[in-house]
Amino acid sequence: PVAPDAPWLKGLNPEQLEAVTSLDGPILVLSGAGTGKTKVLTARLAQLLASRRAQPWQCLAVTFTNRAAREMRDRVAALVGPPAQDLWLGTFHSLCLRILRRHAALVGLGSDFTVLDADDQLRVLKQVMEAERIDPKATPPQALMGVIQRWKDRALTPDKVAGESGADLAGGRARELYRLYQDRLRGLNASDFGDLLLHTLTVFLSDASVLDHWQGQFRYLLVDEYQDTNVAQYLWLRLLAQKHRNICCVGDDDQSIYSWRGAEVGNILRFDKDFPGARVVRLESNYRSTPHILGAASALIAHNGGRLGKTLRPGLSFDPETVEKIRTHAVWDGEAEARLVVEEIEALQRKGERLASMAILVRAGFQTREFEERLITTGLPYRVVGGPRFYERLEIRDAMAYLRLVASPADGLAFERIVNTPKRGLGEAAVQSIHIHARELDISLWDAARVLSNRTELKPKPRQALAKFVEDVGRWRSLLDTMPHAELAATILDESGYVEMWKADKQPDSPGRVENLKELVAALEEYSSLAEFLEHVALVMENDEKAEADRVVIMTLHGAKGLEFDSVFLPGWEEEVFPHARALAETGTQGLEEERRLAYVGITRARKRVLVTFAANRRIYNQWKSQLPSRFVEELPEAHVERSADRGLYGGGGLQESRAAWNDPGWSGSRRGGAAAVRAQVPAWTAPRPEAGSGGFKAGDRVFHDKFGNGTVLASDGGKLEIAFDKAGTKKVLDSFVVAV
Ligand code: ATP
Ligand code: MG
Repeated sequence: PVAPDAPWLKGLNPEQLEAVTSLDGPILVLSGAGTGKTKVLTARLAQLLASRRAQPWQCLAVTFTNRAAREMRDRVAALVGPPAQDLWLGTFHSLCLRILRRHAALVGLGSDFTVLDADDQLRVLKQVMEAERIDPKATPPQALMGVIQRWKDRALTPDKVAGESGADLAGGRARELYRLYQDRLRGLNASDFGDLLLHTLTVFLSDASVLDHWQGQFRYLLVDEYQDTNVAQYLWLRLLAQKHRNICCVGDDDQSIYSWRGAEVGNILRFDKDFPGARVVRLESNYRSTPHILGAASALIAHNGGRLGKTLRPGLSFDPETVEKIRTHAVWDGEAEARLVVEEIEALQRKGERLASMAILVRAGFQTREFEERLITTGLPYRVVGGPRFYERLEIRDAMAYLRLVASPADGLAFERIVNTPKRGLGEAAVQSIHIHARELDISLWDAARVLSNRTELKPKPRQALAKFVEDVGRWRSLLDTMPHAELAATILDESGYVEMWKADKQPDSPGRVENLKELVAALEEYSSLAEFLEHVALVMENDEKAEADRVVIMTLHGAKGLEFDSVFLPGWEEEVFPHARALAETGTQGLEEERRLAYVGITRARKRVLVTFAANRRIYNQWKSQLPSRFVEELPEAHVERSADRGLYGGGGLQESRAAWNDPGWSGSRRGGAAAVRAQVPAWTAPRPEAGSGGFKAGDRVFHDKFGNGTVLASDGGKLEIAFDKAGTKKVLDSFVVAV
């Protein structure tokens, strides 16, 4: 028996109390952001333990991230003490791993099997494809990997795959390759991430006594972020819950943001069917945000169709005098945006707010760079949660290695890093020879490479590859003094095949890497020379994570699910940034609606204040692009929003005029008619210079180049132009760096 004034029951509203204390039977808590779903789960665990309904190891609780698991365990421990340590509490993956270790033999693995990371998985699949003589050009291994992962998300073992999408890959051999891949993993005594769930399911389904054991053990199941479970996870839960039927799932269909990873919001709808008589609790009071934040978020998400529909009202009281509307602010460009946000952060800090209570939530990883640089310049500590800082990212380190090698031939680390990235046929043996040669002659790796490319120590193929590499680097180096450095960087990344490598890569994070590379080139523009830029980055990198606890948080919207901050900054609300271009390119509204849910997640992370920003211009891969405000900015309701703009935007008319533009039906109507039409009506949304990169130049065209001035096109070859400049003479340049005049 638990005293009614137990600390975890105090302050709960009646619906929350019901969800916490109705321990038996299936129960679904379906409610909006900040209504206490996660709090209910925590309290329920405390209630279970304190009431001795279950021993800690008889409770299984699933969270979406390891960090969320840690937090929940800490909270329960604070309420009921040491028993919290023995709860089965973790992500699906970690829980499955624990179970699978005990039954690995049933799926042909040793109990000490290893879990492969994404790189290793891909390597294994490539080996399988090679052995089967599948042409990686016709069937990119990454694409096949993606298909296999989606099958695993849907609990499809190789024999269950039939006409599913993707089965026609590799000339219809996708399913066979999937089976071979699984065999190969088994041979390596390894499993990939998807297998953790799949194998556990197989174990449950193939051995009744094992299933019986676990069904018996887990008397109580609790699941957070239920809207983002996939089919395999759903089946897993359903199996485990069958005996005791005490399962409590909490979720919000409006926060389903992982369909691209196989999540099925439909699992919410099926709950009732699979657990007949399930109790459904709706929590309607939000205890996180101000009425303005809730009003704005609710109005925004109302633009989505097919919602389950929920009421969300403020559960906290606010002083109408001090409560802030959410703000939107238009800035000139990304730099101005970073400056504005960091100024706001400093102002809040001066008022006594902690940095850790402020978060910058971005749609895509490339957006973090400008904020990071501004924070470093200002001396404010920050951390990028859920990913490395911009200049520490793999693709940025690779690209920097190219630039370093071109700038300083003796940079051996840079040489090593990229000599065979992308793969150019320089295997380990060749690289080893270069090393040996360099050591013997006491010369740099670069010099050794040059020597070897002319001699017969290497086999013909690697020698040719090396000669080509040496020639390429030499050519880029010769351009150092003549070509503008940002353009040179773009040229290097293009000609080396490095950008192409990521474009061809079908892993979900590859498009983000290409975006990061574009951002890197844009960053270069801000420095007067390559040397200056390299120095800057070296300094930035040295400025390593301080141990300080109070740091501004930068993370993606996806990573911010379930978290809360006093102040939330939402930058880059522009068409094609957010909503993301990929979602807009899709037919149908599914992609767009998922983006809108992401916007809803973003706004509802805030307790006190939200600042949405958007820039009139973005520099993307060394070109300026004029941007349109995100449709989500428009969808925010006037009653809860205060709109402002930097001086000079919207034709200098400032706020009022911009509002008029937003509300003018002709304006919104014309958006669908294309950017040009919109620009004609809102003249201030023009780029500071003419839009570049339109391509399609032919001999005789007059063009303008940033550094070389006016000239006449002599010849055009793919993206490259030979131009006779009036003052600078004849040069080869990329067509994206010139504009027609
Ligand atoms: P999300 O959908 O974003 O995951 P949630 O529904 O899980 O949100 P919680 O994170 O559990 O919501 O709660 C939001 C905030 O409201 C937390 O700070 C929590 O402590 C607080 N809260 C929840 N219920 C109450 C209550 N009855 N009284 C006071 N504060 C509450
Ligand atoms: Mg939550």
